[in-house]
Amino acid sequence: MEEKGILIVVSGFSGSGKGTIMKELLKKYENYALSISATTRNPRVGEENGREYFFKSVEEFEKMIAKDELIEYAKYVDNYYGTPREYVEEQMKAGKDVILEIEIQGALKVREKFPDALLLFVTPPSAQELKKRLVNRGTETMDVIEFRMNRAKEEALGMDQYDYLIINDDLQECVEEVHRIIQGEHRRSFRNYAFIEQMKQELKGE
Ligand code: 5GP
Repeated sequence: MEEKGILIVVSGFSGSGKGTIMKELLKKYENYALSISATTRNPRVGEENGREYFFKSVEEFEKMIAKDELIEYAKYVDNYYGTPREYVEEQMKAGKDVILEIEIQGALKVREKFPDALLLFVTPPSAQELKKRLVNRGTETMDVIEFRMNRAKEEALGMDQYDYLIINDDLQECVEEVHRIIQGEHRRSFRNYAFIEQMKQELKGE
């Protein structure tokens, strides 16, 4: 018997492959729901409103903040990003494990508000490998690569605040590992109070 879904926060360096891991996880297993964030940044080519993000004006976003419609929000490179509350709460109540792919400031806010959330940090096996992946993408200029590497230095300062490190060497292995970690989390006794209570009651009747 399970109480409800787990709130899972996934962060990681740009170039860590966290987005791909989450997509694969959702394709492979049914019990996950991916939260779609709101942002004030402009859509990139190929992005659709309501699929990658809900694209908002600053004014619209600030209204969402005022109405407490976001679980958390943060400013990242001059744009707002935030997690809409309704979908997350709905899905968790329905027993789904909800994944938030968000940066570290938001992750730490989620931890404060939801101490039971599970925080995962995705990293390549080494700094050298991170740089190689960013260079090999071929879509970024050297300036952008330098910027992301510097950003990674800052983000690394918070790595130890996460519950698990996911070292992304082989994609499929990583997907399986994330799934196993989450399944293990479901077995934690503090997530199964209802079961424990029921067991105690049943045993009383024996
Ligand atoms: P991008 O602009 O590349 O899509 O995302 C930039 C950063 O914002 C990424 O680290 C991404 O994980 C993070 N992000 C996306 N949505 C949210 C959100 O709702 N809240 C927070 N705090 N960060 C987010």
